[in-house]
Amino acid sequence: MALNETEWFTEIQDKTGTAFSLRIRERLHSEKSPYQQIDIYETTDFGRLMILDGCTMVSDRDNFLYHEMMTHPALFTHPAARQVAIIGGGDCGTLREVLRHDSVEQAWQIEIDERVTRLSEQYFPALCEANDDPRAELLFEDGIAWMKQRPENSLDLIIIDSTDPVGPAEGLFGLPFYLSCLAALKPGGLLIQQTESPLLHQELIRDVHQTLREAGFQAVRPLLFPQPIYPSGWWSATMARKSADLNGFREMGAASKGFATRYYSVDTHKAALAIPPFLQQLLATPDAS
Ligand code: SAM
Repeated sequence: MALNETEWFTEIQDKTGTAFSLRIRERLHSEKSPYQQIDIYETTDFGRLMILDGCTMVSDRDNFLYHEMMTHPALFTHPAARQVAIIGGGDCGTLREVLRHDSVEQAWQIEIDERVTRLSEQYFPALCEANDDPRAELLFEDGIAWMKQRPENSLDLIIIDSTDPVGPAEGLFGLPFYLSCLAALKPGGLLIQQTESPLLHQELIRDVHQTLREAGFQAVRPLLFPQPIYPSGWWSATMARKSADLNGFREMGAASKGFATRYYSVDTHKAALAIPPFLQQLLATPDAS
């Protein structure tokens, strides 16, 4: 449906009293899947935009920030990740970045809603360019159930690229799921999870850190990076490690990586690890109200 150029898509976040808008040219697709409302727009300045249940998910213009930072810091922290599981990630951008690493032998993407991937293949083909990689396996089921049945000590890296902690994604932020992740990871294995805005969602970030430690992860730390289309434009991921620390990463490997990135570098990796005082205080006082 063609709209005139003064039309805007606006995501209103009641809980945080914020809103975000992008000017749109046309709505390209709209459907209700068994799991969520999926809308896709052509914007005037951000390329294509996918919306799930009214929340911005991915845009052509800025998804590189998120997909690079949800993958390369963890992959360059691990000595050589071979078995990788992506929970969610249905737009396939995270999978594409994971498969740039030659050490990866197998990458499962467990996305509950197949329609997200099929629509991403149609409207965001660049994000899906690694879908036919022989190392990739796309599964369409609940990541919580999938992780429960994983053999112990079988994964090197788990990336939780889910929607906000509501609906089918709520359980991905809970102790039972983190316990199954810990069991599935090999010693030294890593988990990284998108954990919302460090400005707007501090309680969630604190709770995630506490719950990951309660589950038995030895080291837990946040990564901060820009993500313009998400609430506040400032985003976080939380990295956790089984029976090893999170001090340092393979700087030489990152500096000599054999593939191009537009945001990730040794410097932006280091910058992402810098925890501002307000967050240090929040995370150091577990019962901060
Ligand atoms: N980059 C986005 C963000 O940070 O909000 C997330 C991208 S991806 C589109 C999020 C995906 O998580 C959605 O496609 C959703 O269907 C999927 N998802 C939510 N809960 C899930 C679950 N329990 N198991 C597997 N996938 C799930």
